[in-house]
Amino acid sequence: MSGLVLSEVRKHFGPVHAVEDVSLSVPNGTFVCMLGPSGCGKTTLLRMIAGLEEPTGGSILLDGRDITAVPTHRRELGMVFQSLALFPHLDVTGNIAYAMTIRGVGTAEKKRRVGELLEMVHMAGYGDRSVAQLSGGQRQRVAIARALAVQPKLFLLDEPLSALDAKLREAMQVELRQLQERLGITTIVVTHDQREAMTMADQVVVMGGGRIRQAASPVEIYRHPADAFVADFIGSTNLIPLAVENGTATAFGKPLPGIAAPARDGQMLSVRPEDIILAPAGEGALTGTVAFVRDLGATIETFIDIGGHRLVAASSPRDRPAVNVGDETGLSFHAGNAVVVTA
Ligand code: ATP
Repeated sequence: MSGLVLSEVRKHFGPVHAVEDVSLSVPNGTFVCMLGPSGCGKTTLLRMIAGLEEPTGGSILLDGRDITAVPTHRRELGMVFQSLALFPHLDVTGNIAYAMTIRGVGTAEKKRRVGELLEMVHMAGYGDRSVAQLSGGQRQRVAIARALAVQPKLFLLDEPLSALDAKLREAMQVELRQLQERLGITTIVVTHDQREAMTMADQVVVMGGGRIRQAASPVEIYRHPADAFVADFIGSTNLIPLAVENGTATAFGKPLPGIAAPARDGQMLSVRPEDIILAPAGEGALTGTVAFVRDLGATIETFIDIGGHRLVAASSPRDRPAVNVGDETGLSFHAGNAVVVTA
């Protein structure tokens, strides 16, 4: 297959199994975001793809060629890692042209390429600036241009936007995605920000405990999470414990029409906050007590205590019944919006 193929890649640091049997196919031109809680192994996996870490086992293929033992500088990569800062003694042009200089690219060609790259990252006219005089976002753009200067086969980024403030980060996410689409370059970004992953990725890889928990499109992951871990990690969700009474699925002792009886113990329903519908007390499938209300302007979150659990409903201010802290409220959801997950 053309693209990147990981087969049963493992990395053990002594007793720590940082990455365990990861297999993944990334077709050329795909934008992948690797996502997961701190310590789940995403940086270690990226470093193995980059050749900065040697796998304990498994293989890495790029366009059909086994690159598991190929050194980093022969892998045709562009990298933006937090630890790979810009060269402070070079100006913007010097930074971007660096890899081309090493490869002996001619002066005229270098100048043309730098101009093109500066244009691409919206920094035309900044070539002579010292990198010390740039804002965080501009520095990030220069790092991206520098990494793309040698037209890599694979573009690897580790938390590239995490140092930026929220507004700039969101703008850069869109820019990075548009740039990647224009260049058609296979890109792998490590992030712990699920909104970032959903903004940019064709394919989201959710990792937990060194393993891939699910690899799919953002929408697939959001709507059909593979398990409770993924459901809880991507967006927020309500995990409602399921039980069976007389062959029917129940929650908190109430029957749930349209939900199949759980086949095993420990199964739960994942229902997104925006799929919970509030109803007057006594109506709706379930009844609980309002514990807290958070009015975020665009949505109102209602936290509801029910059978020792706390659920959250996110409603539009226009169609939310007027319920306050301490009130009883009904709540329901469409069976089609609930996913049965296992812990
Ligand atoms: P974060 O989001 O915090 O950066 P991560 O998902 O990128 O986390 P990794 O940095 O890949 O996680 O680390 C995975 C596991 O491997 C952790 O338990 C970490 O402590 C361990 N680890 C990483 N590098 C080494 C190393 N060089 N030596 C020993 N253990 C390591």
